[in-house]
Amino acid sequence: MPSLPVSRRAFLCAAASVVVGACSGTDTTTGSTTSTRPSTPPAPPDSTVDAPATAPVPTEPAATAAPTTSLPPVELPGDPFTLGIASGDADTNGVVLWTRLAPDPLNGGGMPSDDVPVTWEISADEAFTIVAQTGFEIATAANGHAVHAVVPLPAGIHFYRFSVGDYFSAVGRTQAAPAADAATDMVRFATGSCQNYEDGFYSVHRDIAEQRPDFLVWLGDYIYEGAGVPVGGQVVRSHGTPEPTTLDEYRNRYALYKADPELQASHGACPWFVIWDDHEVENNYADLAPQDAGDAAGFAARRQLAYQAWWEHTPTRLPPPPTDGSDYQVYRAAQWGDLVGLALLDGRQYRSDQACGDARFDLSPACPESADPARSMLGGDQEAWLRDTVGEQGTVWNAIGNQTVMSDFTLNGAILNFDQWDGYPAARDRLLGDLVDRQVPNVIVLTGDIHLAGVATMTHPASDQPVAVEFVATSVSSDGLGAEGLAPILQAFPSIVDVELAHRGYILHEVTRTTWTANYRMVEDATFPDTAVVPYKSFVVDAGSTAVRVVTG
Ligand code: FE
Ligand code: CA
Repeated sequence: MPSLPVSRRAFLCAAASVVVGACSGTDTTTGSTTSTRPSTPPAPPDSTVDAPATAPVPTEPAATAAPTTSLPPVELPGDPFTLGIASGDADTNGVVLWTRLAPDPLNGGGMPSDDVPVTWEISADEAFTIVAQTGFEIATAANGHAVHAVVPLPAGIHFYRFSVGDYFSAVGRTQAAPAADAATDMVRFATGSCQNYEDGFYSVHRDIAEQRPDFLVWLGDYIYEGAGVPVGGQVVRSHGTPEPTTLDEYRNRYALYKADPELQASHGACPWFVIWDDHEVENNYADLAPQDAGDAAGFAARRQLAYQAWWEHTPTRLPPPPTDGSDYQVYRAAQWGDLVGLALLDGRQYRSDQACGDARFDLSPACPESADPARSMLGGDQEAWLRDTVGEQGTVWNAIGNQTVMSDFTLNGAILNFDQWDGYPAARDRLLGDLVDRQVPNVIVLTGDIHLAGVATMTHPASDQPVAVEFVATSVSSDGLGAEGLAPILQAFPSIVDVELAHRGYILHEVTRTTWTANYRMVEDATFPDTAVVPYKSFVVDAGSTAVRVVTG
């Protein structure tokens, strides 16, 4: 690819001048303006320029100050927008817009060591006939040239794009959330999780892009950390690289995933709210305990690097994680008008280590350790925060975005999976007991992790009070449990409304003031690209009830 000599100073000045009136140098890291002007169509990325094609059309005299070229030029070896674009953490004021500059995505990004200004633009139409707002953000080398631009948006659908020099990103579609007290009659949103690249293709994401929901909640396992397996074995496409432990290796793993065009389209369709599970760091890690105790030395540092890479690739308002490895709070609240409150949990960073040696499918009664009331899934601070959040947002529905299955799947005292809430029964009882005590209505638990589609009603064991309905999205692509005969065992639980293990998919929720409808959509065969995604069943909960109706089959 031809190199593109671009003046860093010229970029910064041109982008900044709209806001500050004149170039103020590199100490300004962000800026924006609202204007209405004709857009500049993208120019072919083969010209040599010293000012970006997106340089805002001057709207005031100070903006006409000529950019200087006193700083050395930044050479871009190619299109920096290989990882696509995204928006996320929509609130009443707007969204955060994300991209990361990476001309050589699988090899550390391929960017020069300079910090680079990136222009963003907002338009009401997909063709950018009129640019309504523009601004810039500095993509720093220290943060992998990731961009997190917090952009105010009025109500309605908006389109956004980024540019650097003559390079333009794809166009994304996004929207702000209705005001917290705005009477909101309806919302459509998706929940999904678990997209192991090696196990399958992303037809789910193609379908989400076509469905254009209002937003998506990602429930974890965005990447998988496993080492590459040769294609022709058990994988349909290989990670191709060893298990990541360094920042560059985690960045390259994210880049492999984010280069997928269907995943990019899904991000481009709506704002995402993203939380993580274990595979963003390592399978089944618990706080600072790695999967294998022998890897404990250095795990804290590895986790911090994995968190940094997560932040660099996530459209979130959160700051980057602390560099000293101390806790990084990602649990947070969101809401969609007065209709849906959303508590987004972190069930990994503060949990007690899995009990009883993290046994799997052991049918003997669980060891006493599992019942220790001191054991926690969320940690004390997050438990207290959750009590202050669920049911306190003034919304019709109170949803909890959660990593691992919360419903009770214990079998005659046996815990089949110590990694999910069954392995933390005292913590679950505290959570459910609090919901009963405060009589929180219309609680919906949204869950990922387990690679099966499930619907369950949840009851507080001490009071026998029904508390919530749990909707478990199956995986986007990650292999299912594959346990022959498990479906009838699970289906026999009185709490389970439905379970389906054989297909990959996601849930498209349609929520009104009177009903919550979870439309399960499934991929016919995720091991092939371009596979059909079809309706499975729809499950309806009426407000004021925890009964679940199956409306289609
Ligand atoms: Fe998973
Ligand atoms: Ca998981």
